[in-house]
Amino acid sequence: MKPKIIVSRCLGFDHCRYDGSIIPSQIVEKLQEEVECIPVCPELAIGLGVPRQPVRIVFIDGERRLIQDKSGEDLTLRMSAFIKSFFEGIDVQGFILKAKSPSCGVRDVKIYTPQGTVFAQGNGFFAQEALTRHPHLPIETEKRLENIAIYEHFLQKVFTLYEFSQVKASQSMKKLVDFHTRYKLFLLAHHQRETQLLGKIVANAEKNDFVTVAREYEIHLHQALKRAMNRKLTINVLYHALGYFKDRLTSREKQLFLRLLEQFRQGTVPLAALTGILRSWIERFEEEYLAKQAFFTPYPEELQPKIEKDNLPPRNYWDWEES
Ligand code: SF4
Repeated sequence: MKPKIIVSRCLGFDHCRYDGSIIPSQIVEKLQEEVECIPVCPELAIGLGVPRQPVRIVFIDGERRLIQDKSGEDLTLRMSAFIKSFFEGIDVQGFILKAKSPSCGVRDVKIYTPQGTVFAQGNGFFAQEALTRHPHLPIETEKRLENIAIYEHFLQKVFTLYEFSQVKASQSMKKLVDFHTRYKLFLLAHHQRETQLLGKIVANAEKNDFVTVAREYEIHLHQALKRAMNRKLTINVLYHALGYFKDRLTSREKQLFLRLLEQFRQGTVPLAALTGILRSWIERFEEEYLAKQAFFTPYPEELQPKIEKDNLPPRNYWDWEES
């Protein structure tokens, strides 16, 4: 069992672009170790072949139409029918779509006037439906995922929503309480007020049934995860975690941590430097509550972004005899 995401088929799965090409994507390739990718090519699905005339979005009489170049054929109805049937009953945790495509692109697709000039940018037809039906799911293009902050937020959401979907399926109040306990610090680093609300929902003072509680919890979970981790809130969480060890550390250990925390505040040290130290203390002092916190590993470590190559030279640049 793995999280499921829908991926544009031309991103490494098939030579299905209009010119028969394929776009290799290291990110999609890597994700497949931990995520089930469901490839889809909306243009193939509506019966267009490979190669084919490219399509574009044209604004005609106040409506977006999907028009094939040269032939001028209007494919809007065919595409709308496919999209409607495709989205019926799908249960996934995210989308990775091909940038700039009039079918798959997200927010970066050229929209033309009937005279052939570009007058706006928007979503491809397939992407638009994904955004409308699933506004709370992470929906990104392969281009945007090259940004580490966007990549991490995407994975954090995919894996958190997947774990929550498992809890929902279990219909177990205990599992919901465990989920909230495990994700508490992670959620606090995103949104303090929503995390407090989630705590109240899970406490269930009104003694509501599981379905009611889970439905309300899900609404606020989506709100909490709307934005990526916030630096100020993350610093609060790091201070809070330090509190678990304060009586067991030397003053030099604490000073080092606080120095790094200040550098993290200034953006000169990555979060991983601090979570790495905390994790070593969690092991050393067997701090079980923190050991379970999703804050430290919100997605599988195998999917961590690669360190910039030049930070760790693959060969010895200084030994002239070796090179
Ligand atoms: S961008 Fe979308 S429609 Fe175009 S080839 Fe890729 S999967 Fe097919």
